[in-house]
Amino acid sequence: MTEKISIESNVMDERRTSGELEIKIFNQSDKTRTALKKLALWWGLSLISVLLPVVHFVLVPLFFFLGFFFAWKGFKSEGQVLDGKTTCPHCGNNIKVGKGELNWPVTEICQSCARVVRMEKKEA
Ligand SMILES: [Zn+2]
Repeated sequence: MTEKISIESNVMDERRTSGELEIKIFNQSDKTRTALKKLALWWGLSLISVLLPVVHFVLVPLFFFLGFFFAWKGFKSEGQVLDGKTTCPHCGNNIKVGKGELNWPVTEICQSCARVVRMEKKEA
């Protein structure tokens, strides 16, 4: 299920611009699937690094831990940003929001002035 929502952007001051995001909201089974995929990926790396001499003492527990970390992060994520656009409140440059995990506030770096643009849900 995807939906378009209105957002409000700011660069940590009183200026606001509007924009919109196309998002996919995860339901419980999407979340579980994403989390398990991440767990499988990192634990796979952990298993492979068992074969590496010396560094496996570090890598095996590290990847094992990262697996938990990213799985937890994926589980906490509300969904995915598919697409989006807004304008930079500072310089007015058009900002394209790329694909990524949906965690409020969504942030994107302005390509023109390098400020971090924070996007928040616009209250209806
Ligand atoms: Zn800018």
